[in-house]
Amino acid sequence: MDHTDLIRTAADPGLLKQYGYALIDLLAADLRQAVSDDYHTLHQEAPEDQLRYWEEDFAGGQEADPLALFRKVLDRSVKIRSRGYAGHQVCPPHLMTVLTSALMAYLNNGMAVYEMGMSGNAMERIVLKDLAARFGLPEGAAGFITSGGSLGNLTALLTARAHYLSRNPGTNYRDLAVMVSSEAHYSIERALLVMGMDREQLIKVPVKPDFTMDVAALPGLYGSSRVEGKAVFCLIGCACSTATGAYDDLEALGDFTTAHGIWFHVDAAHGGPALFSPRYAHLLAGSGRADSLIIDFHKMMMVPSPSTAVLYRSAGAANLTFMQDARYLWEDQDSDEWYNSGKRTFECTKPMTVLHIYFLLRLYGARLFGEQVDYLYGLAEKLAGLLGKDRRFGLLNRPQANIVCFRVLSPPQDPDVLNREVLKKLAADGRFYIVSTTVGGRFYFRVSLMNPQTTPADLEELLATIADLAGAGS
Ligand SMILES: *Cc1c(COP(=O)(O)O)cnc(C)c1O
Repeated sequence: MDHTDLIRTAADPGLLKQYGYALIDLLAADLRQAVSDDYHTLHQEAPEDQLRYWEEDFAGGQEADPLALFRKVLDRSVKIRSRGYAGHQVCPPHLMTVLTSALMAYLNNGMAVYEMGMSGNAMERIVLKDLAARFGLPEGAAGFITSGGSLGNLTALLTARAHYLSRNPGTNYRDLAVMVSSEAHYSIERALLVMGMDREQLIKVPVKPDFTMDVAALPGLYGSSRVEGKAVFCLIGCACSTATGAYDDLEALGDFTTAHGIWFHVDAAHGGPALFSPRYAHLLAGSGRADSLIIDFHKMMMVPSPSTAVLYRSAGAANLTFMQDARYLWEDQDSDEWYNSGKRTFECTKPMTVLHIYFLLRLYGARLFGEQVDYLYGLAEKLAGLLGKDRRFGLLNRPQANIVCFRVLSPPQDPDVLNREVLKKLAADGRFYIVSTTVGGRFYFRVSLMNPQTTPADLEELLATIADLAGAGS
């Protein structure tokens, strides 16, 4: 039987070269624009209009030119590489990972079992052991990469519960509870719901004015949960919180979990990489006390999303998470086969995203991440400095990380109404992209400085633009 023309396109090296080089040219031109003074970040369009555009595109005749499609997507996406990008906590990935992405797609070696993902499983083992040691975890620590922090938190919480149940067999799920700061990421609550528990089983610990967990409130909350017949099986520390970038005192949390024999989980999805900076590593003091810890490579470590490390203090603990039979994949259910990572992850066929982080470490070393953190956290300090001395603005928090929340002060107008209006206008203008959060019922701009191409002068322009849109004079 002969190949059809269409099947031939799937494995034509000439086609790969022709459009591969052309795509790289297109991306390089886009990038030059994004980092020039003439940057533009957001081309806002209502969801219905966007849908109509792509419906028409989809209904068009067969597209012969991939470049035309590449251009359309580029034109209608957020320019995350623009100097004006300071929106959600997604990074402009290192350009080397554009290339490792191509390698990953080309190889498509699944990672669940060793025989399919040989290099990937070995690389993952090495990278995560290295990371665990940097966090101060003991020799027996290990982990794996999974698809995002939300899934990482869910996986770690499942392990924590399995660990508790293995020691307290017969405990009813309904009698369990988890403690976490009221500022925690929503994926924690969602994880508990997925685990068949309900909101009452999530004990939210209040925060201090700096948005870090009020550790002094722990004993009281823990005591009353016991009176109610609940067994707290896990305490979670935020390093840092999503809305305001606040780092919980991990040493104090570690002391509490040690004293009460509770699993200590650290959600370092965003703020873990501070560890690579001599200047900011102190924020993670105590991370080595964790029983489990997650860190997103796709937030502060220049890797395309999703790619998240889940680390365990004890490699064996991870095997408890999904105790089940899959003998067509692995023969020995109980042994610690590090090279069959599918035993411990949600994914069966798992992408080889380890390539990104492995290449960055091999080519540039961990110093790359330290420099990234220094620059972006430093930029946040500069922005806070500008806001602090400008009476037109109110700064919510002195930033510990690269997340800054503020608003225009506008007596006698209602600041919530005014600031909402300003954010809409800023988005319609499109030079900058920032987002918002609500704290204590009040509306704030939220800026995540994720792009190391953003300069202090850009931040001055951002504030001038906001003041202008608010009619706040100068
Ligand atoms: C972003 C974030 C998450 C969720 O991670 P995803 O990779 O977006 O799923 C969890 N916790 C914290 C603290 C985060 O900042």
